[in-house]
Amino acid sequence: MPTLRVPPWARVGHIFKSRWGWRIFLGSFVIVALPLLGVSLLSWELTHALQQRATQRLMAEATKAATLNLFDRLRSAERLLRAQAQARAAGQPNPALEAQAAAVFDRVVLPGGPVPDALATLTLEDDPNGRRLVPRLRLPAAGGGVIDGVLKADYLLENLASGAHDICLRSPAMNGAYCLMPLAGYDLAQSHTRPLHFMPYFEGPSWTLTAAPDRQAYRFLPFGAGAMLAQATGLAFLLALMASSFYARRITLPLEALIGATRTVRAGDFGQRIDASAMTDEFRELAESFNGMVGEIGADLAFSQLLAQMDAAILARQPLADIMQLALRHLTGGTPGLQVTLRATPPPTAPQPHEAVEFALSADGLLEHRPPRPLPAGFTGQDIAVADRPARRLTLHVQQPAAAPPWPVRLHHELQALAARLAVAVHADEREQQLIARATVDSLTGLLNRLGMTDAIDQAIARARTATAPVAAPADGTAGFALVFLDLDGFKDVNDAYGHATGDRLLQQVAYRLQAALAAQDVALARLGGDEFVLLFGTAGLPRLGTDLQAVLAALRQPFRIDALEILVGASLGVARHPAHGGDAETLLKNADAAMYAAKAGGRNRIVEYTATLNEATAERLELRRDLVGALAGDQLFLVFQPRVRAADGQVESAEVLLRWRHPQRGLVPPDRFIPLAEETGLIADIGLWVLRESLRQMRAWRATGQAPLAKLSVNLSPQQLAHRDFLAQVEALAAEFAPPHGSVELEITEGAFFRDMAGSVQKLHRLRALGFDIALDDFGVGYSAMSYLSTLPFDTLKIDRSFVGALGQQAAAYAIASAIVALAKALDKRIVAEGVETEAQAQVLRALGVQELQGYLYSGPVAQDALAPRLEQLAARHHAGTPSPGA
Ligand code: C2E
Ligand code: CA
Ligand code: CA
Repeated sequence: MPTLRVPPWARVGHIFKSRWGWRIFLGSFVIVALPLLGVSLLSWELTHALQQRATQRLMAEATKAATLNLFDRLRSAERLLRAQAQARAAGQPNPALEAQAAAVFDRVVLPGGPVPDALATLTLEDDPNGRRLVPRLRLPAAGGGVIDGVLKADYLLENLASGAHDICLRSPAMNGAYCLMPLAGYDLAQSHTRPLHFMPYFEGPSWTLTAAPDRQAYRFLPFGAGAMLAQATGLAFLLALMASSFYARRITLPLEALIGATRTVRAGDFGQRIDASAMTDEFRELAESFNGMVGEIGADLAFSQLLAQMDAAILARQPLADIMQLALRHLTGGTPGLQVTLRATPPPTAPQPHEAVEFALSADGLLEHRPPRPLPAGFTGQDIAVADRPARRLTLHVQQPAAAPPWPVRLHHELQALAARLAVAVHADEREQQLIARATVDSLTGLLNRLGMTDAIDQAIARARTATAPVAAPADGTAGFALVFLDLDGFKDVNDAYGHATGDRLLQQVAYRLQAALAAQDVALARLGGDEFVLLFGTAGLPRLGTDLQAVLAALRQPFRIDALEILVGASLGVARHPAHGGDAETLLKNADAAMYAAKAGGRNRIVEYTATLNEATAERLELRRDLVGALAGDQLFLVFQPRVRAADGQVESAEVLLRWRHPQRGLVPPDRFIPLAEETGLIADIGLWVLRESLRQMRAWRATGQAPLAKLSVNLSPQQLAHRDFLAQVEALAAEFAPPHGSVELEITEGAFFRDMAGSVQKLHRLRALGFDIALDDFGVGYSAMSYLSTLPFDTLKIDRSFVGALGQQAAAYAIASAIVALAKALDKRIVAEGVETEAQAQVLRALGVQELQGYLYSGPVAQDALAPRLEQLAARHHAGTPSPGA
């Protein structure tokens, strides 16, 4: 762990970088300086006083010595003068004396004669000419003379001079004092004055002698005390400096370290520690508790960051394993001897037996799962609950040597918090799984939905891509799988007739039948929405594709029972193969869809495999579908009429009304192409009603002329129209409006229309018949042809489908079927019409079978309304001539 250490060279400098360093330093300086200043002042006063006293004493001494000296010299000079005078008086001048006197006196006046014992008079005067002192000794000599000696001032003052003080002499005869030196440099305040009395040795006034100390000479008189004081002061300062810098350092260094450490912590680095070993006392405690605190906060922060990371992972819907890994990584290695894993164990009450699983970090820090390991000897284990589910119990499993100390509080808290977070993650994961399941499964049927199927296709594509084994490729060279688009025929009618609840139940049954019908294992089933199903035949299931799809068709053709209803639907199937018909889910689905449409257009209840041209057809169909919406309003629809002739005599009794669409760009669009589109879009309800209304209107118009070309019209009804809830009411309204005579309008219905709801259809047919409409079963023989139902159906006419008529004379079966149908109709006493009669031979066969009416190009194709009358006349003329003419 990095620690903060201050290099030694920086330590003293550091003091002055720290404010506290300054304070301590200045504080201790002031603390030392103030008393020292006081002491200094005091001692200065003291030494001053001492010095004065000493000076004064010295001056006293000096004056004393000076007076003694002066006195001695004056006495010597007097004795010399007397001796000289006596010697002169005795007439024996002494040369030695003379010489000595010359040194002492400037001038001597010796009048001669005996020298009296009288006292010598001593005077001291100024020399009026200059700054000279004139000391004079006078003795009265016998005879009235005076022995007079003027002393040399130098002789007198010779010994008085001193470097340390000045001596001044004064006598009453002097103006002022005579000083040896100019007084300027001397301290008169400290001078000492002493009188020099001459009595009883000399006559004359007393002199005064003053000694004044040299200003400089005595200043340092008590020098020792001052020096000592200065030394002591200096020492004290030095000590204070040292002490203050020492303590300042003791304080500022840890402070610096603490401040530096708090800064790094503030910058987000919790790994820094203060080197407490270099500190003492409270600072050490402070540093240690700081380190502890930073460690705690750092650990807290790291842990909360981990939790935040886990939260982010949960929100980002990362796999549960990633989140487990985060938690385990945090717990691993922190506490020695501690091993933490996640355990999923089935509770004893689990509904299904599960294997227990343990999730642990591998050596390289990745999550691995394995069977739970038994507790090693000497270890204790503890489980912290994470999630309790009926099927499994997830716990944080902690193993630790039995001898290990109890968990630190932090570990305890962290384990609890991690368990709580993991619980959230598990919950989120379960939700995610549910959502995925919900997102990919169709809630109505339990099959896959579009998303699920797209996934399945993507997976199949991925598998096909990786499967290099030639075994996987079918014989035709295309690898992979097949996609089958299945659309129910007539589902919309069921929804329209019975509502969505019934429709939904039908879809559920369809789903069930689909699953039951498929023998292949490798098939995924989906409902994309509405009545669109998709089957994905995987590589393994591919060989069974043909047989399974036939089985599906057969299964869906069986009537469905929903409550009292018996419903018949069929299915159209389109097949697209991977990779021949597309490399991705979207293309494959689109192409299978196109193939399915082709199957629908091709007459339903069949299987069509995709070809490249199908897509063009699909695009065209989409375009037509769009254009059809405006066709009715845009007056693009019109009716044509195809006469029906009596088989016996060729008389035209009625005609079939057939719808035409003149597309503004495409021209005439055949009904085989646009009627299915109208049914898909639901437009057929409006269009069909329009056809019926137009037919009724035409009939009424003809009636109004008094000579109707035809007494009867057949109008086609789409199964959807019959199934529509409003249909009967609408037909009733039309009947009321146009009042068609009974039997003048026949409604052609294909059998599929009412097999879906037999009872309801029967009821509706009864109502229609009650309104005066005849009922014809159109296209009989194809489709469901559940002949057993025929007896219960209220109808008047049976139209043999043109496919049988066309096959007459070519296929033996066609004749058999046609004759069976005719026999059946005769048995039921129904009128029989054959459509699509193109040749006289067909007409003859049909006539021979007992078919009452014939319709087909042999007599006439559909003709427009204004061409109808001429055509009918033509037919009548031919009837009379007995020769047929080619049709339209
Ligand atoms: P459909 O009801 O079976 O009508 C008879 C169809 O056979 C008509 O075709 C007619 O032109 C055609 N046809 C007549 N004679 C012959 C012949 O000798 N040989 C051949 N091969 N065909 C012949 P169209 O007009 O193209 O109608 C086709 C289908 O369109 C009709 O079949 C019918 O199912 C539907 N359709 C036509 N008009 C309407 C309508 O107004 N409403 C409804 N719902 N469907 C209609
Ligand atoms: Ca018809
Ligand atoms: Ca027909």
